Amino acid sequence: MGIVFGPVPSRRYGVSLGLDIVPLKTCTFSCVYCEVGRTTNMTIERQPFVLKEDLAGELKEVIQVKGVKPDYITFAGSGEPTLNSEIGRMIKHIKRTYPDYPVVVLTNGSLLWMKEVREELLDADIVEASLDTVVEEEYKKLNRPHRDILLSLYIAGLFEFRKVYKGRFIIEVLFAKGINDTEENISRLGDILKRLEPDSVHLNTVVRPPAEKGIEPVDEAFLGKVKERLGRNVEVSTVFHGTKTGFENIRDNILKALIIRPMSREDMQQGFNIGEEELDEYLKDLRKRGLIEEVEFGGKKYFQGIRYKGNIS
Ligand code: SF4
Repeated sequence: MGIVFGPVPSRRYGVSLGLDIVPLKTCTFSCVYCEVGRTTNMTIERQPFVLKEDLAGELKEVIQVKGVKPDYITFAGSGEPTLNSEIGRMIKHIKRTYPDYPVVVLTNGSLLWMKEVREELLDADIVEASLDTVVEEEYKKLNRPHRDILLSLYIAGLFEFRKVYKGRFIIEVLFAKGINDTEENISRLGDILKRLEPDSVHLNTVVRPPAEKGIEPVDEAFLGKVKERLGRNVEVSTVFHGTKTGFENIRDNILKALIIRPMSREDMQQGFNIGEEELDEYLKDLRKRGLIEEVEFGGKKYFQGIRYKGNIS
């Protein structure tokens, strides 16, 4: 399996080299908005899905041989990275071998109640964990967690981690229209975030094709209001159409989605809510940079992001 992907441009983490360390859709949740599709391997059993030695070999190839210089090295990808029991050894290896590159872990945070998971993440520079809702029914509907991950356990894990972690701790809240955009959730989230005191809170919504049909984003005005209510260290991460740097951001989001899975033109138009001509502009730009390629499957044309490309300007 390809472990290292990108580098991909990321609004928050510059040019980021991605590490995908669990098999496709191995997760503790099956979020209805997941851009990688439904979870096929729902588990809380941690395993060495990818060995530290294999990751080290790929990283060496990309950084030392190909000369890729990312701004960040980010654990992300097609499932929940903390399910890989090697993640602690991997982080230590990266910090030792490539001390100039900050390590980011994007996690759903659902395993932080496990002491070993908390300890293994301690050396990461940034840990961004999700907390979309603190309302039980919404949690079950939106995140569709493994039956053993009770909401109370999940939240307790975040608090335990906060106590011991010295790096930058970020909470991401993703809102889906009609599910967790309720007054009850926003008000309870406010209380919990006040006590949890993350370094920053990122508000987000559904911007890429979700796992389930009918899952829709909230609008920019809603996120703006939530930001005002939740406090100073809260920022809206989603880029809406019409912003000044909209082109780069939408293009980069398309690239990220294509690196994770191939998409047809229709998928992209629907998922990013853009017209044919606009999509052509993004694809032209990505092709020119050598970041995507066309593949055929079942008589249909798809586009996919190319891994191991170091030519993002
Ligand atoms: S969004 Fe993240 S946490 Fe949710 S199912 Fe997808 S990979 Fe798992």
